[in-house]
Amino acid sequence: MLQNRCDVHTHTLFSRHAYSTVRENVLAARDAGLELLGVTDHFSDMLFPGADLTHADLRDYQYFINTTTWPRTLEGVRLLHGAEADIRTLDGRLFGQDVAVAEDITGGPLRSVTTLYDRVVASCDYVIASVHYREFAREATVSQGTEMYLGALAQPKVLALGHAGRAGVPFDVREVVGEAARLGKLMEINNHSLEARRREGRTWQSCRSIAEACAELGCRVIVSSDAHVCTDVGRVPAALELLEGIGFPQELVATRCAAAFLDAMSEAGLTVPAL
Ligand SMILES: [Zn+2]
Ligand SMILES: [Zn+2]
Repeated sequence: MLQNRCDVHTHTLFSRHAYSTVRENVLAARDAGLELLGVTDHFSDMLFPGADLTHADLRDYQYFINTTTWPRTLEGVRLLHGAEADIRTLDGRLFGQDVAVAEDITGGPLRSVTTLYDRVVASCDYVIASVHYREFAREATVSQGTEMYLGALAQPKVLALGHAGRAGVPFDVREVVGEAARLGKLMEINNHSLEARRREGRTWQSCRSIAEACAELGCRVIVSSDAHVCTDVGRVPAALELLEGIGFPQELVATRCAAAFLDAMSEAGLTVPAL
């Protein structure tokens, strides 16, 4: 049995189509025997449809910038704060990188104009980069999809690519996984992608081919619930079934314990938060 004691892709009420608080998720993590919980709400214009994609009001995103007030451990669970940022262009740029911010959350001028991405991500421990809006990649070729994921992986704060097996953008799995391994970054095996889907269906197969490439090329994975309600925190049975089915090595599961995940953060060039 593979061990998995961190859940580093979870959502709270801030994501708007999720239903639990940070504390409810922490309590669920504790009850599921997890050592570490990462909260990664959507950083996306799906939160505010009709948002101006050139300028943003920081007040809409202030949830992210005050997460530095969170305790680093709650109920015995290590607590990290990140974001699940949308990949928005074929060169792997993320939501907010082309959005200017000129005012702080009180409406006063910032010392210098910055981007929404830089302002928000400054207080994130890590970022998971995922495709949700597929419109920009509708006609993408395999080579364009590959460039997109390579571009996202090259972003300094990006630790992992989220649910690439169900995003629907074609890419060269070995090339992307190989580059992730080279950078010390991670691929996600997302339980939510697999749970409701047919074994041997398309999503299952594409997630499995990612996992097989990770095993072969030595790329670590995060195994996550993508929970949108606290009762799903730490629940990853389908992801573990897929991994166990191919004899995936335990040592490549970066979420097997808190220490392994924090090591992976460090190897990816991210700052490991002090206790
Ligand atoms: Zn969501
Ligand atoms: Zn997602």
